Amino acid sequence: MAYAVLQKGRFDDFIVALAAQRKVMAPVSKGYGHFEFEEVRSATEIALRYIPTILPPKKYFMPQRETILQYTSDSIEAVVDFDPMAIFGVHTCDLAGIQCLNMVFSERPKDYNYLVRKNNIIIIGLECGDYCDQYASCAMMNSEMPNGGYDLFVTEFDEYLLFHVSTQTGEDIVKSTGLFETADASHKSRLAEYRKKKKSIFKKELPIDSKDIALLFDKCFESKVWDELNDRCLACGNCNNVCPTCYCFDVIDEPALDLTSGVRYRRWDSCQLETFARVAGGANFRENRGARQRHRYYRKFSYPVKKFFRYFCTGCGRCSRACMANIRLKDVLMDLIKAHPLDNA
Ligand code: SF4
Ligand code: SF4
Repeated sequence: MAYAVLQKGRFDDFIVALAAQRKVMAPVSKGYGHFEFEEVRSATEIALRYIPTILPPKKYFMPQRETILQYTSDSIEAVVDFDPMAIFGVHTCDLAGIQCLNMVFSERPKDYNYLVRKNNIIIIGLECGDYCDQYASCAMMNSEMPNGGYDLFVTEFDEYLLFHVSTQTGEDIVKSTGLFETADASHKSRLAEYRKKKKSIFKKELPIDSKDIALLFDKCFESKVWDELNDRCLACGNCNNVCPTCYCFDVIDEPALDLTSGVRYRRWDSCQLETFARVAGGANFRENRGARQRHRYYRKFSYPVKKFFRYFCTGCGRCSRACMANIRLKDVLMDLIKAHPLDNA
């Protein structure tokens, strides 16, 4: 494994050098404990210690609204609109979210727009510490430690930033800026100590093993917990919009007023909206809110396990932070565990 050291006094030079090559997106404080990824030109704008941003970095891989095709009466053209960029400061939960999206959009038929964008985004991960809030549950979802999916990964220490160089692209950045020093054994042992301490701080908060969550979902499809959520959920769709692994979109044709040209675009959709499962003729497969909540949880903890062999929840906590009805993911899982005890628990 290759590591490189950047003294903190050179961090700004690094961001300025990177921004000279391509757009740099990074977490920025928006006040009142909220953070958002946006374009930066200097390190002074970046929040190195932040709780998960309002929207995850998926907004750069699959924009909220994206034109995918434009036409006139005698031509039709596919549209792929993207900016090469580097995203600095992606936490491990969001790296896991991007890995989920990569799996979905790499399936046949492959999603060309997503993959072109992904191939033009440099990802620089950032280690988080013990400052996250009560909604996060990354340890429960085994996403508290870096597990690939980045070009460079940064761990902050008092005097320097330690970069793990994971790809050729990452190595090229380190070399091209000329700002780094080679890491030695003392840097690596300090990192090992940091990770050991982190393991002891980040707790798994459920009384069952994470791998058994899938077993729980084998027996709770008819649970009364969904009926309770039916009474509380407002069907606003916030939980989907902020989730790093939700990827559903709607496709809409928009003719221009001249009626000879137009565009086809896609935009984020939400399985919590009443119209999501409505089909021709007016039937709706998930008419009530409890059924839609159940669907959302099964799309995190059951269906993707069968298809992709992993949970599609990274424990980022965004759905719980964003819910106006105070529906908290960890509480829902606890209610399910209590209502449907596992034989081995
Ligand atoms: S379900 Fe909630 S906690 Fe899990 S990844 Fe999505 S937003 Fe984050
Ligand atoms: S954010 Fe809360 S209220 Fe809104 S759809 Fe999701 S669970 Fe329901």
